[in-house]
Parts: sequence; C-alpha cells; structure tokens
Amino acid sequence: MATITYLTTVQFGFGELKTIAPGLTDLKIARPLIVADRGLAATDLIQRLRSASPLLGNAPLFVDTPTNPTEEAVEAALALYREHDCDGLVAIGGGSPIDLAKGVALLAGHDGPLETYAAILGGIPKVTGKVAPVIAVPTTAGTGSEVGRAALITLKDGRKLGFISPHLIPKLAICDPELTLGLPAMLTAATGMDALTHCIETYLSPRENPPAEAIALDGLKRAALNIERATKDGSDREARKEMLMAALQGGLTFQKGLGAVHALSHPLGGLKQVSLHHGTLNAVLLPAVLRFNEQASGAKYAEIRRVLGLSADADLAAWVAGLTQRLGLPGSLSQMGVPRDVLPAIAEAATQDHSSATNPRQASAADYLAMLEASFG
Ligand SMILES: [Zn+2]
Repeated sequence: MATITYLTTVQFGFGELKTIAPGLTDLKIARPLIVADRGLAATDLIQRLRSASPLLGNAPLFVDTPTNPTEEAVEAALALYREHDCDGLVAIGGGSPIDLAKGVALLAGHDGPLETYAAILGGIPKVTGKVAPVIAVPTTAGTGSEVGRAALITLKDGRKLGFISPHLIPKLAICDPELTLGLPAMLTAATGMDALTHCIETYLSPRENPPAEAIALDGLKRAALNIERATKDGSDREARKEMLMAALQGGLTFQKGLGAVHALSHPLGGLKQVSLHHGTLNAVLLPAVLRFNEQASGAKYAEIRRVLGLSADADLAAWVAGLTQRLGLPGSLSQMGVPRDVLPAIAEAATQDHSSATNPRQASAADYLAMLEASFG
C-alpha cells in the first residue's frame, strides 16, 4: 500500500476502497453523482461502492455510459447531476465512465456546448478551476484516466475529440486491485494492452520529460510481465495488482503525449456503425506503428528491448503481435469488423487528432493509411 502524490492523490492497494469516505469529506463533496455503465451495474461493484460511504448509499446513479462516451450521454448525466443538485462525481468502472464523468464535471461549471472546450479546437485554456471535483475508482487496469488530464468524447457529429486540461484530472484516484479480480479475461487482455500501449507511446513521445519516461518504462515492464498471468488467472492477486499499477503509471505519463496508435484508435472508436474496444484497437495497431516509428526512435527501441529482456536485434512489432495472439485478442482490424471503406477517412482524421503531434515521426494521411492497411489483415 502506498499514498502517492504526483498530480492526483492516489490511494493504491487491496481494500483501499474504504478511503473514499474520508476522500469525499476532504473534497467537500456532500451530494455526489455516481457514474458507471451497464456492464458494471450487472456486478456487485456499485453496491460495494455504496457501502463504502453513507454519502454514496442513496446517491443518484448514471449507468447509460456508452463504450465510447458521447456528448448525448454527457448531457443526460449532467441533467441528473443538476436535478439532484450534486456537487461532485464518483466515477467507477473503466475509462468510459471516468471520461464521461470528466465531461459532466466540465459542463457543471462551464457553459456549453462541449465542443467549445475540445483541445484541437483551441479549448484547452477555456477549461478553468470551475470543473466539479471527480473521484475515480478504476475497475479495469488499462485506461489510466483516473490520473489523466484527458477525456475522449464523441460529439453529436461523430467526431471523437479530446478534452484536455489539468483541471480535468481527478482529485482523487482509488486504485483497489480487489475491484479488478472479477474482470473477464478478454477485458483484462484488452484493457491491459491499452496500458502497455500508453507506456510505449508516452515513452517514445519526443517531449522532454525524463521522470515520466522512467515511469513509462517501469509500467511497461510490469504490464509485460503480468498481462498474460492476469488474463489466464483472474484471481492472481499479485498480477492484478501489478497490472493496476502499470495502468496507473501509463496514465501518469500522459503528460508527455501519446502517438500514432492513439491518433488512429480515437477516430476508429468514434465510428457509429461498429463499436470498437479502445484497448483491442491499440493492440492491433501497435505493430504497424512500431515499424513506422523505428527509424526515428532507434536508441529508445534499444532501451525498450532491454527493459523487456529481449535480444538486441529483436523485432518489437513481432513481439507485440505475438503477445496479442497469445492473449486471444483479434489480430487485425478486419477481424474486429472495421469496414475497409472507412480507412481513408480515418487516416485523414488521425492527422487532426491531438495525439498525432507527439508521435516521434511525423505521419501524413498517406502514412496513416499505410499503417491502417498493414493492420487490416
Ligand atoms: Zn488508450
């Protein structure tokens, strides 16, 4: 167990859910809105959360969070927040409820529409300290959103945009591995590959930030050592704890910026005709992006190989593809149901994504299209 203060206060360890009661008091939240999703509502996790504080026992609950959070869902949750005169949010679940709660927290203190605050549209300085406080309780080990400054939300016109500000960072993250023990194998694998991708992409980002790079490499090592164990045996407490730490570390390094994998997976995640899991998308896209970036990242690739215990001439892209296959995840975009005819538009959208700017090698729409073709299968 440890108390870590980096940007968010983090309570980490088995049984730490109990710290939510003093956490609510410290943040002066008296009337919280709980944000979750339908998948979580089918488990006992919301009940366990409610039991952890009297303030949560009868708190209003929003469960209609889509896999990829939408502006419509933010508005519906905001209406519930206002109806109950709430003064803060508790988001429990994977990245989707946490990102949705950030969107609600933003609009609770700022005039809409949401688009005004999108990073790519110049919205970053418009987000102020009026964002309502958020406590994040992750139940997957992947997103890192519990300590991240971004929320990814699909607007009504279909654009999946990033909302980025230090004010959007949850004030408190409660990372209790006990809550991840029941996560099904495929979700363990997919969300775990998201965490692993965060560590690789932030490490490769050209932004100068050695402390964040050290965290990213440590997170990568934990993820690589434990993702198969946690997927094979969900009750492996040590592996669960290590994966939750890897996810947290991936999130702590978001300040360096992500790269081409996320520049591509964001618009793919915004597709309306097919619902695509973010972590699975990243696992499928990562090999092609690693091949594309290699010429710009030689020394860093050597360091990644060293951390992973691979030989000096090992093919990192092949290592990732092998891992994805052993985890039982889809190996290509076509297997995931992505229609081929959307690829040119996705490639174009990737050049506009906020993560594109921190890819180590500048990628044009043609480059992105080539990476998509290589991942299509
Ligand atoms: Zn991600």
